[in-house]
Amino acid sequence: MIAEPQRALAELISRTSVLMLDFDGPVCSVFAGLPAPGIAEQLRNTLRRLGVPVTAELEDDDDPLSIYRYSTNGGPAVVAAIHDALVAAELRAVETATPTPGAVDVIDAAHERGRRLAVVSNNAAAAVATYLRLHGLTGRVDYIAARRTPEPSLMKPSPHYLIEAAATLDVSIRTCALVGDSGTDAVAAKRAGAYAVGYANKSGKGEQLVAAGAAVVIDSMTTLATVVREARGTPYLPGSVEDN
Ligand SMILES: [Mg+2]
Repeated sequence: MIAEPQRALAELISRTSVLMLDFDGPVCSVFAGLPAPGIAEQLRNTLRRLGVPVTAELEDDDDPLSIYRYSTNGGPAVVAAIHDALVAAELRAVETATPTPGAVDVIDAAHERGRRLAVVSNNAAAAVATYLRLHGLTGRVDYIAARRTPEPSLMKPSPHYLIEAAATLDVSIRTCALVGDSGTDAVAAKRAGAYAVGYANKSGKGEQLVAAGAAVVIDSMTTLATVVREARGTPYLPGSVEDN
């Protein structure tokens, strides 16, 4: 990364008390060992079994979360069934998920500099917790804001999980930054009133993340760790005062 974006990132980080990390991308590659297209197919089969027609567009969608979003067309019982199947698949997937280089370094750097850490994910909270346990990170993440109930509408781009994390950690959302690799992360951060940092883990993603509202884009979590380590101290603005 060239110097100017790094300065912008340092400036942004100096204004944050909580670093929020999206899970799939910034922390690990969830479906590295259990590919997402196979899970999506399994969820489509569950939809069919429950009598919910699958559109041609959905037939070509390899993202299990898309199938979960679509399940609302079948009503609450179908959403619950797809949610349960998705949680089970994610719990299997995290056993073979690949850590993102530099992610643990970011977590360490945040703690060293007095910043708290939240994982803010559209994946199942149980799957995130399992991954953290398998990688010895349980005590180093202050909060997991993720799917606990079958409510697709709460997922990013909704600001819900960010607001939940800020409220639980008792900080103003305006002192939180979400690092994410999807446009929906940047949109959710903007809607919540948090800073959006784009993680461009594939070429061409940077422009897409900026278009979605990311204030700064990085291409390496190691760069973020360096900046977090060198950033100035944290502001502490209790959410109960700042946001009333
Ligand atoms: Mg992601």
